[in-house]
Amino acid sequence: MPTGVRLVMLGRQGAGKGTQAARLAEHYGVPHISTGDMLRAAVAAGTEFGLRAKAVMDAGGLVSDEIMVGIVDERLHEADAATGYILDGFPRTLAQGRALAGITESRPIEVVVNLEVPEEQVIGRITNRRVCKSCGAIYSVSAPPASDWTCDRCGGEVVQRDDDTEEAVRKRLDLYAAETLPLVPFYAEQDLLAEVDGVGSPDDVFAQLVSVIDARVAR
Ligand code: AMP
Repeated sequence: MPTGVRLVMLGRQGAGKGTQAARLAEHYGVPHISTGDMLRAAVAAGTEFGLRAKAVMDAGGLVSDEIMVGIVDERLHEADAATGYILDGFPRTLAQGRALAGITESRPIEVVVNLEVPEEQVIGRITNRRVCKSCGAIYSVSAPPASDWTCDRCGGEVVQRDDDTEEAVRKRLDLYAAETLPLVPFYAEQDLLAEVDGVGSPDDVFAQLVSVIDARVAR
């Protein structure tokens, strides 16, 4: 049973990051840290910060680097992240990538996976996507939960995300190209990058991910 890995998942919206990150977290026995899920939890809790974040998220924008770096810094210092983590949705800008290098200086990131799915394919995936409001589990119109939009894992309500409208999705894809894609050469230069083809069945993509990660991470 493999244990521990400090991993960052890159990939445009709809590439399957969330689904694969959850499976990898289980496989390696580390927490799945999704900044999108953390923000959605703040929205659900109705905090003032959550309300402000919701306006940015619904418009397909990005929450400020300063706030995101603070949230991730705190989260990575929690006890369960000591053996590693699967970081999903962070970093999303070069400034976040540089800040993450500082946060993880004593125990650096071991591998950055870029899950590649062409832009033309992800719009359909995202507009079909449905998520559990309580635990964030991901479904789709073609692979719904077993019973009546009730989450198989926790019994929560399965809905469409407010920011999965076509307009917000296009804005998020443009922002991904402008702000997040520069992280690919940033991590390639540090020899941390592994490219994985995200087109294919979830099981095939998962098997590819594990083999690429195990080849990169010395145990
Ligand atoms: P996700 O679930 O990763 O698609 O994130 C949903 C939304 O949360 C994004 O469209 C952003 O508005 C916001 N968000 C999540 N992670 C970050 C981040 N690292 N930096 C800025 N905004 C973020």
